[in-house]
Amino acid sequence: MSKLVYMDNAATTPVSPEATAVIAKALTEHFGNPSSIYSLGRDSKRILEDCRQRAAAVLGAEPQEIYFTSGGSESDNWALKGVLPFLSKRGKNHIITTAYEHHAILHTCKALEKQGYSVTYLPVSEDGLVSVDAVANAITEKTAIVSIMYANNEIGTVNPIAQIGALCREKGVLFHTDAVQAVGHLPIHVKEQSIDLLSLSAHKFNGPKGTGLLYCRKGIVLANLIEGGAQERSRRAGTESLPTIMGMVTALENAVADLPEETARLTGMRDRLIAELSKIPHCRLNGSAEHRLPGNVNFSFEGIEGEALLLMLDMNGICASSGSACTSGSLDPSHVLLSIGLPHEVAHGSLRLSLGRYNTDEDVDHLVKVLPQVVERLRMMSPVWEEKTKTGNFYFQD
Ligand SMILES: *Cc1c(COP(=O)(O)O)cnc(C)c1O
Repeated sequence: MSKLVYMDNAATTPVSPEATAVIAKALTEHFGNPSSIYSLGRDSKRILEDCRQRAAAVLGAEPQEIYFTSGGSESDNWALKGVLPFLSKRGKNHIITTAYEHHAILHTCKALEKQGYSVTYLPVSEDGLVSVDAVANAITEKTAIVSIMYANNEIGTVNPIAQIGALCREKGVLFHTDAVQAVGHLPIHVKEQSIDLLSLSAHKFNGPKGTGLLYCRKGIVLANLIEGGAQERSRRAGTESLPTIMGMVTALENAVADLPEETARLTGMRDRLIAELSKIPHCRLNGSAEHRLPGNVNFSFEGIEGEALLLMLDMNGICASSGSACTSGSLDPSHVLLSIGLPHEVAHGSLRLSLGRYNTDEDVDHLVKVLPQVVERLRMMSPVWEEKTKTGNFYFQD
């Protein structure tokens, strides 16, 4: 079998050799508990605080505003569940979010609704963007926090985060952004973009799994999510995963160091994929072509099933995704694709290709060769396709 073409970087990324080396070294050399008083422990503590300072520098934050967590899901949960107890005592019990957030936000909001909070789920436009006006119109005197993702994990659309941040600041409402897909791919500066809370996850930018952070602007009252020891300034208990935190910070610095070059390289590969796949009859790019992550391609192909497409691609050595990894195992089409107005049937025939640091032009060549053939073969076997060709009843007229 020829080489594996990995195009599922939005699900997770390979750990960079630099991060791997740092983690391996730390596992053996820096096993001391940062809370211990002997020098082995104090060394770990010093390294931990150095990591905090380096992460803060990348984000335009201050070290005391960084809390290390177990990843994006924990950071998202903590951001919302952490700020609401204090604000709800002051009559602010309303949350504004969007219909196409990651489930770490949506399911947290559902849980909060059960506790009596009210949530507005803003619709998104057909090209997958949140409107600043819609946010402005949804804010009331009861609004505590607005949580809107920087970039969508399925369709790759990029929201006007700085404008939403400025609006929230002006209205005296907190602003959280799930920046898990944006970090390492788009510029981030929490102060310049008026971000109060931000979630990121290491395994989405060539760092290790199970490690992330929450940025929380100083002065914001944040309740604990995990109780126990005094780690993270008594805000988040649990012995720190120093090796993976070190790996995360290494990956983070590497990602931002060559951001302009990588953006240009990925955008070039992305646009070639989009141009080539657009030649396939009766298909469409999902999400804005303009406000889009450099590495995201998401297409719907009429008359086929995404699952079957993934299996056929797998047989050709290609790893990709259909909608969100979290929805596989369920028959419901992705909530993101439904949120941009796709009918169920069309949403089922969708494919996400997400490029990353280790993809090459040869990977794109392979995909461009294989995918049109695979789509055609699946359509030949599809009764839905046969029906459509007979009736001419296509959703995407070419
Ligand atoms: C992957 C992802 C998460 C979850 O991060 P984990 O570290 O896997 O928990 C949250 N939000 C978005 C947008 C993601 O892509």
